[in-house]
Amino acid sequence: MFIFGFFTLGILIGSFLNVAIYRIPKGESIVLPASKCQSCHSELKWYHNIPVFSWLFLRGKCGFCKSKIAAQYPIIELINGLGFAVLYYIIGLSWILLVLLAIFSIGLVLLMIKFNK
Ligand SMILES: [Zn+2]
Repeated sequence: MFIFGFFTLGILIGSFLNVAIYRIPKGESIVLPASKCQSCHSELKWYHNIPVFSWLFLRGKCGFCKSKIAAQYPIIELINGLGFAVLYYIIGLSWILLVLLAIFSIGLVLLMIKFNK
């Protein structure tokens, strides 16, 4: 079942898209440094950083200071996961699929950066 694989891949990439959505407008690197809580600036542990699950597990709060973490994070991850699964379902495995997945993700980042302004 490739469709579940594409859903998972989309969620993992969605996690990276969140970093891009948050950091690109501030002109920061999207690779380094490690993710930090925007409130207490504690560096997140790996288990605070598992897409969708960590947010649910921590009930939308920082694992250190308990300040709220925006629902935007798991929502973006899920939208990207669903987008990947749907595009795979419609198009099937092909090079065109890879191009469309890239366009979908980049489009989502650009849309959210515009939306957050
Ligand atoms: Zn915190």
